[in-house]
Amino acid sequence: MEDTDLYRHLLGISAPWEVSRVELCVKGGSVDVWVTHAKGTRFACPECESTLAVYDHTDERSWRHLDSCQFATFLHAKAPRVNCAEHGVRQVVVPWAEPMSRFTVLFERLAIDVLKECDVVGACRILGLSWDEGWHLMERAVARGLLRRPVEAPVHLGVDEKAAGRGQDYITIVSDVDQGTVRFIADERKEASLDAYFDTLPAAELARIEAVAIDMWEPYANSVRAHLADAEKKIVFDRFHVMGHMTTAVDTVRKAEHRRLKEGGDNLLAGTKYMWITSAENLPERHDERFGALRNLELKTSRAWAIKEDLRYLWDYKMRAWADKHWKRWYFWATHSRLKPVIEVARMIKRHYDGVMAFFAHRLTSATAEGINSRIQAIRVQARGYRNRENFKTAIYFHLGGLDLYPTAA
Ligand SMILES: [Zn+2]
Repeated sequence: MEDTDLYRHLLGISAPWEVSRVELCVKGGSVDVWVTHAKGTRFACPECESTLAVYDHTDERSWRHLDSCQFATFLHAKAPRVNCAEHGVRQVVVPWAEPMSRFTVLFERLAIDVLKECDVVGACRILGLSWDEGWHLMERAVARGLLRRPVEAPVHLGVDEKAAGRGQDYITIVSDVDQGTVRFIADERKEASLDAYFDTLPAAELARIEAVAIDMWEPYANSVRAHLADAEKKIVFDRFHVMGHMTTAVDTVRKAEHRRLKEGGDNLLAGTKYMWITSAENLPERHDERFGALRNLELKTSRAWAIKEDLRYLWDYKMRAWADKHWKRWYFWATHSRLKPVIEVARMIKRHYDGVMAFFAHRLTSATAEGINSRIQAIRVQARGYRNRENFKTAIYFHLGGLDLYPTAA
């Protein structure tokens, strides 16, 4: 088989296109393949698809293709242009790449698969791409996926804020709680941030939303009130966020107590942060002995921890009436704990009590919020050093958007 014929098969090139020349550069580690079309071929106008004779050709362009046995492979061609009576002189669509792309469809599909599995630095190293090319490929994939995604409101919505960079730089993440996918990302964590999502939805879609899980954060609650009918019944201050506040309170108590003990030369609480903030059943066994002993000491931290752990049962009841009972007992305990951070959180929950208890009407899982939260943390770590809000958003959509990212051949 002639190498031109071999490459015609390898590249999946079919009539009217044919491989005219193949050059192997051993030193440069590359294979260059030139593709031309048969003389007299007629091509479709990209706008109206009427078939026309070739008017002229563009300068030669090249596309990165899948490697041939580790050799970076490039496809070269002059794209034909047609002169349509209605649309003027236009470049025709070539079958191996999307318009404006510098990669063939097959290469782009592979790159997306690799980028899904690795961080951007690793994927670029494997694929022989520059950092900018890697990001550009991801941006294009995300744009493609967002365009294809139907306008459809999830029945159960989750809203969360995430730090996007240093300091007070936040983004708002709107997710589909049942699918576990990110639907929308807005800058900041204002009422307008969530408004921007609701504004993408027609009234019929807004009406589909039955519940919105949010943190006890007025700007988000106000946005829900402004956009959804019967909002008070739909707002759920969910377990993930409520427990987040409680855990922070425990940690505040621990920090203050550790500081005070340390001043007296006692390093008892050094390196124990993780034990107090992790849910009891998730704490690895190796901590059992030390943590068991710590927990039984007369510490403010152990008192705060016990109150935190007891709050978690609130969501385990089958009947709301039992949860109400639990709450009353818990609230009394928490507010009599003489631990200021704990008392403050208890009062915050009380102010939002109806929304917290709305859980029993909707039974929204917290697993999605937890899952998305930890995956976004991982994306943040991967993107470190190159942290830029737009890249961060692109990566979230790419990994968590549930989007159809692949290009399609013409
Ligand atoms: Zn036309």
